[in-house]
Parts: sequence; C-alpha cells; structure tokens
Amino acid sequence: MNVQAIREQFPILHQNVNGHPLVYLDSAASSQKPRSVIDAVSRFYEHDNANVHRGVHTLGSRATDAYEGAREKTAKFLNAASPQEIIFTRGTTTALNLVASSYARAVCGEGDEIVITQMEHHSNLIPWQQAAKATGATLKYIPLQKDGSIRLADVEATVTDRTKLVSVMYVSNVLGVVNPIKEITAIAHKHGAKMVVDGAQSTPHMKVDVRDLDCDFYAFSGHKMCAPTGIGALYGKKALLEAMEPVEFGGEMIDHVDLYDSTWKELPWKFEGGTPIIAGAVGLGAAIDFLNEIGLDEIERHEHKLAAYAYDRLSTIEGISIFGPVENRAGLVTFNLNDVHPHDVATVLDTKGIAIRAGHHCCQPLMRYLNVSSTARASFYLYNTEEDVDRLIDGLHQTKEFFGYGIG
Ligand code: PMP
Repeated sequence: MNVQAIREQFPILHQNVNGHPLVYLDSAASSQKPRSVIDAVSRFYEHDNANVHRGVHTLGSRATDAYEGAREKTAKFLNAASPQEIIFTRGTTTALNLVASSYARAVCGEGDEIVITQMEHHSNLIPWQQAAKATGATLKYIPLQKDGSIRLADVEATVTDRTKLVSVMYVSNVLGVVNPIKEITAIAHKHGAKMVVDGAQSTPHMKVDVRDLDCDFYAFSGHKMCAPTGIGALYGKKALLEAMEPVEFGGEMIDHVDLYDSTWKELPWKFEGGTPIIAGAVGLGAAIDFLNEIGLDEIERHEHKLAAYAYDRLSTIEGISIFGPVENRAGLVTFNLNDVHPHDVATVLDTKGIAIRAGHHCCQPLMRYLNVSSTARASFYLYNTEEDVDRLIDGLHQTKEFFGYGIG
C-alpha cells in the first residue's frame, strides 16, 4: 500500500494547523474524504441533481440510478444477498434505533431479554434501554474481562431462551478490541435470538461479510469510511425487514394512501420516508469504490501495523496507562497520561497540529468500568504513517514536560 500516494488524494491533510503540519489521529470519530468522493458529490450536484423515485424527467432518472446504484454497491460491499436488504439511514445511530423501535418493540415482552455489553457506544445502548422500558423486557450485560474483552463462556452464560436480541459492537471505539461476532451470533441463534451488530468501527477498516457472520442486522456510518456525513445504512435479513413496521411515515415510503389507512412500498423503500440523502449516498458509493480499489485487507494490515507501532512506542512513556487488550486490536489506542486531564493532553497536542480525541467517547458505562472519567484516543486510518505516530509521541513528551512531569 502506497500511503504517500493515498495521502495525496486527501486535500485536507495538506495544511498547517497552529503552525505545524496537520497530524490527523481522530478518524474513529470521523474520517477525512478523498478527492474522488468530494468530486462525486460535486458532480452529482452539477449534473444530475433531482429528487428520486418521482419525476419522469431525465435528471430524476439519473438521480434515481445514482442513488440505487449506491445501494447496490453497499450491498456488494457487505456481501448482502440483495440491495433490498440495505436501508439507507443517517448513520449507525439511526440504523440501530430503527431496529430497536421497530423489531424490538414488536417481539419483546415482559420477561424477555435483550443482551448487550458494557463496552457499547451509547448508540448501541440507549435504544435498547428504551426498548426494554417500553416492552417490559430485561436488559442484560455480558460481563467484560479486566482488559475489556469478552469471553465466549460469558456470552453462553448470559444468553438464554428468553433472549430475543443480542447487540454487540464489532470493534470497540475505545478499547480497539475486535469482538468474536461470528461466534456470538452462533450462540444467539442457538437460543432463537436475533443478532445485531454495531459496525461503526469495523466497516471502514476490515472486510465485512454479513452472510458469513450470519448476523440478522448490521449498522454502519458512511462518514467514518471516507463518505460524507449524513449517510449510513442498516443491513437486515430480508424476511425480518419484510415483517417489520416502518418507524417513519410520509412521502416516498407509501404504496396506497386512504383517509384512514395506508399501505407501504416494498423493501427497502418502506423504511425510507421523505426525500433521502441522495448526494450522500452517491458519496458513499464513491467511498466504497475508493476503499475497494485499495483493498480492505491491505487497509486493515496497514492499520494493525500502525496501531502496534503506536502501542509499543506509547508503552515506553513513563506514567502512561493504555486501555484494552494487547492482542487482537484494531487501529486505535486509548490512553491516559499521568494525572493530566485528557482534554488538556488533547489541547496541548492541538497546539502542535496533532488532532486526537479526548472525553468519554460516548461510552460512559465503559468509562465507569475502567474507573476513569475520560481518556485520550489516537485512531488511525489508511492515510496515517509512522511519522504521525512519532509526532504524537514527541507531542506527549512535550505535554508531560508542560505539566511538570519531565521527559521520560
Ligand atoms: N457505534 C460506535 C462504535 C461508534 O464509534 C459510533 C461513532 N462514534 C457510533 C456507534 C455512532 O455513529 P454515528 O454517530 O455515525 O451514528
């Protein structure tokens, strides 16, 4: 993988921030966009823009082709059986809420269980809390190991025949751990439960095959994988989606409307009420082309190498605590430096042109489990280099010095 050539395709990376060349280490929050994606969105607005599924005019059909073409690319990207199994959403949060608001409320009742973990992002936790409250189901947590990882024996011990849904993140946005989704899915299915996967941190960084995982639902966000903000998708097995009720009603999603009753369009459109994020979908299609051209396996290899290099170098800094398992990590490292507040670490690094994330990362229950209020996080993508890591390490030494810990 030629990282320098890849960097050339990301215009935003070539600038100084606070007098220093930008080092962007916050792709887990949102990735940067390559020229091909920016151009695809501009081209759409310059040449093809119109509403979809409506007009008989030429621009209307071009826009519809572009939008539905993006759905086909997304289906292939995840290895879904058909584009009908891809519902475009605003992102992971909206996709998970759709399952929780529609499927969970329909199948759960008093005494049933929804199973998640304490490492979940709020977007894969609160929708289930709400669904449990609304239906009388019990929310149960698969316990975590000390390093934050999950043991399959604990999954076995938590999931029962009363479990209707299991929802787990594929890759943790804090711990970097890659969860054994295929195995967890098999356990869920053994008990007749459906498996939901939060794919926000896996889809941008590794090859995902929903049919191989055999999960029932899979959610992801475009903006973390080189696409614009405001577009993402829910994958669902066709039979499940067909049986589900929409949660948004209005234009685009109807078949026949009467004064007191209405019927819905077929999949996937019954879940896409209102004018969709057409240019966003076009951008997602271009992002998928871009990632496919480089190859997800190559991207994953590059990021693992970088994360391992970062882990090793960070480990040599006196006073640092690194969170998450040593093995089986994706491309991010979460840490705290002595007792310097992570926001202060991020602020000092920003003065050196280095962008990292600090806070609870939308994982307050996990922060409580780790016994911290917040952490700092450096996350990597295909455009990051070992020099970026070296700049981070230098910046952290300077941060320590700034806060009176000396260098070491
Ligand atoms: N789940 C995980 C693991 C995430 O990292 C994020 C984004 N930080 C989300 C869900 C929510 O994604 P979005 O804000 O794009 O809906």
